Amino acid sequence: METKILKPTDENIEIAAKIIAEGGLVAFPTETVYGLGADAMNAEAVGRVYEAKGRPSDNPMIVHIARASDIGQLTPMLSSTIVTLIENFWPGPLTLVVKKKPGVPDRTTGGLDTVAVRMPDSEIALKLIELSGCPIAAPSANLSGSPSPTRAEHCIDDLNGRVDCILEGPDCRVGIESTVLDVTGDVPTILRPGIITAESIEAALGKKVEYDKSLFARPEARPSGAPLDAGFSEDFKPKSPGMKYKHYAPKAEMIVVEGMRDNVKKEIERLRVLNEQIGNNVGVLLFEEKAFIEAAHEFFADLRDLDKQGVDLILAGALSDTDGVGFAVMNRMLKSAGYNIVKV
Ligand code: AMP
Ligand code: MG
Repeated sequence: METKILKPTDENIEIAAKIIAEGGLVAFPTETVYGLGADAMNAEAVGRVYEAKGRPSDNPMIVHIARASDIGQLTPMLSSTIVTLIENFWPGPLTLVVKKKPGVPDRTTGGLDTVAVRMPDSEIALKLIELSGCPIAAPSANLSGSPSPTRAEHCIDDLNGRVDCILEGPDCRVGIESTVLDVTGDVPTILRPGIITAESIEAALGKKVEYDKSLFARPEARPSGAPLDAGFSEDFKPKSPGMKYKHYAPKAEMIVVEGMRDNVKKEIERLRVLNEQIGNNVGVLLFEEKAFIEAAHEFFADLRDLDKQGVDLILAGALSDTDGVGFAVMNRMLKSAGYNIVKV
């Protein structure tokens, strides 16, 4: 298939919107990462997204809308929790998991009776959705398993020849995927951490939110401050199907080094020197201390850059934050490394 690679001019966004309306696939920028979009209400089109990405079909997609009120096409009723969250965080990187209306295809929701919805904070994305005249189902625009795409070139690397169109927009401002919050139960539950943190959601709602326990199913992923009796278990089934798959993996092997900053630096240096002596090409990923927003912005792009440099081993310094934006980055970092972690 020939992929149209287009600058996001008004004219080209119209062309892309027409492709979506006719059941085709378009990769487009959002503020979080690039999405690979299809008409969310067209099961066949959504099926093509799974094929193009090589994505397991039980992994549901986030449905993107251009106006908050369009959530009414997807869910029957808005609770005061949902309304407050929409008022506070949309447009923005917060995805709400809500009960779905019968008209939303099973392909879009992976057979679940809930649907994940968000309104992105990106002019290009909003124009595209508006002009296509339908909600757009869009997972990240990468091949399943590889690091999420935060620049147009990442989509071109992964999807050229596999999709109808790539809108070549700016680099993504946030750099990691949205926070996914389940608001179908009594207690709002974070299924995937992002830059909208538990703390800011709690401040808006005036009540506690929880993390899905599967986020901590691997003891290594447990924030060091977490109480030991918090009910973490080894085999907890994630509520967010996507969280169980191998994710974000660079081609290189990867080790995460965790501990006090000085010790981390020393251990990375020790590992680097010996690995280079045995002939490995080593890349180091060490963010400024407490620069969590910057780390989120750079993380996936850095993994891809290191892969392009032909690195065999990536040594990454863990971030110290256990609850906020740094925690969201650590969620991705540990998965990228396949939970290959040393504590020093
Ligand atoms: P991606 O679109 O690749 O950023 O992934 C979307 C994430 O949202 C995945 O982790 C999905 O499993 C999750 N998700 C989408 N829809 C639902 C839903 N109805 N319930 C729970 N998680 C969902
Ligand atoms: Mg993804």
